[in-house]
Amino acid sequence: MSNDEVNVICNFIEQLNKLKMKTAKQISLPKLLAKTQKVFNAWVRNRDREKGCVSCKSGKVEQASHFYSAGKHSALRFTEDNCHGACVRCNYFLSGNLLPYRATLLKRIGQQRLDILEATATRRAVHKWSRFELEQIIKKYSCLD
Ligand SMILES: [Zn+2]
Repeated sequence: MSNDEVNVICNFIEQLNKLKMKTAKQISLPKLLAKTQKVFNAWVRNRDREKGCVSCKSGKVEQASHFYSAGKHSALRFTEDNCHGACVRCNYFLSGNLLPYRATLLKRIGQQRLDILEATATRRAVHKWSRFELEQIIKKYSCLD
């Protein structure tokens, strides 16, 4: 292969990569946030699949339930200690069923980590996630199955 041919191919690959980056950037931030939540929640459900519902214990793990809601406490949206597998009844219809949730949470993560979680929830609960952070989270939790 001549140098000219190599250059043509290199330029072509460069153009392709630019196009790929452009396409990736076109996903809106809210869509990227939703995608990240989906990946993270799937990881949580997989981690907890044998544990039973965090709130009622008897229900099957069907959803990822945030102890501090992702809406009000955006900083804790992707915090592992703040998210546990739950059944639909507890997470959705009983809005998390938080009283028994807390009791199980204490058993699972211990007093110290629960204290840290609660302190974080009261201090800096709001966080605006950047594209870079979300992409890193997707990378981290996609390969942890
Ligand atoms: Zn339940």
